[in-house]
Amino acid sequence: MNTIQLKAPAKINLGLDVLRKREDNYHEVKMIMQTIDIYDILTFSETEETKIQFESNDPGICSEKDNLVYKAANLLFQKYNPATGVSIHLDKHIPVAAGMAGGSTDAATTLIGLNQLWELGLSTEELQKLGVTLGADIPYCIMRGTALSEGIGEILTPLPPMPDCFILVAKPPVSVSTKYVYENLHANELKEHPDVDGIVEALERNSLSGICDRLGNVLETVTLPLHPCIQDLKDLMTANGALSVLMSGSGPTVFGIYNDQDAVKKSAALCKKNNSQNRVFISRPVEALQS
Ligand code: ATP
Repeated sequence: MNTIQLKAPAKINLGLDVLRKREDNYHEVKMIMQTIDIYDILTFSETEETKIQFESNDPGICSEKDNLVYKAANLLFQKYNPATGVSIHLDKHIPVAAGMAGGSTDAATTLIGLNQLWELGLSTEELQKLGVTLGADIPYCIMRGTALSEGIGEILTPLPPMPDCFILVAKPPVSVSTKYVYENLHANELKEHPDVDGIVEALERNSLSGICDRLGNVLETVTLPLHPCIQDLKDLMTANGALSVLMSGSGPTVFGIYNDQDAVKKSAALCKKNNSQNRVFISRPVEALQS
């Protein structure tokens, strides 16, 4: 019986724009996605008993059947009727409900892992088609790296990798519901939009300063007024050497981009000192998965 262990990486958004709310209530987005090296670890062990078992080190995570890992495994299980079952362990490190696509990356990595374990022979595109039925960000989490994400998140264009840098990630001790944030965004009345095309051009020029000059996220208009601790973290990073700072996704996670290792370490220590319940990580950009 085989066992496979895989890392499921988190993402941040270098740019997040909402173009409009569609008639079907989905939001049309234009986002720059970037994978970073903060990971959950998933272990898939084949079992003789043909069923799916799921457990996690995080007692706070939602129950077995509601978990995206279970849902992704069950999707493949029902469709391909494998000869063996699987026992899945999720070692959770990515903060939950933080704007870092933690659940989506776990689901994406489950599709990748079980495709290997059960030798299903599915292509990346086939896995992405299955993944989007569980969540709009899952196709991106299968591909990883730097990408432009459009439509409801399912239209993906790979972009040149982000220039290497230090990315300080700080998650304050508040939770934000992505659903709430989108429901309270007045998408059709937004006056300012981030320069997402400019970020694409900066990536093509390999210009870190060009990216930093243009970071922007329209969801800050909803989440920042709710949680002043987010602006506090942004100010702290800006005052301590960050080239640029932004909230990721629907928040509340804040990230700062640095090119100086001493400055990023000092800022990380200050984020912890500011509130010992802040979860703080020093990370780097990760490139796309080779398929
Ligand atoms: P996004 O950036 O895609 O909006 P997020 O980082 O804000 O996502 P998640 O960590 O994915 O949020 O969690 C959102 C909700 O999904 C949680 O409240 C949780 O109940 C549910 N969920 C299901 N499966 C998982 C999982 N494997 N890890 C974390 N959350 C999960």
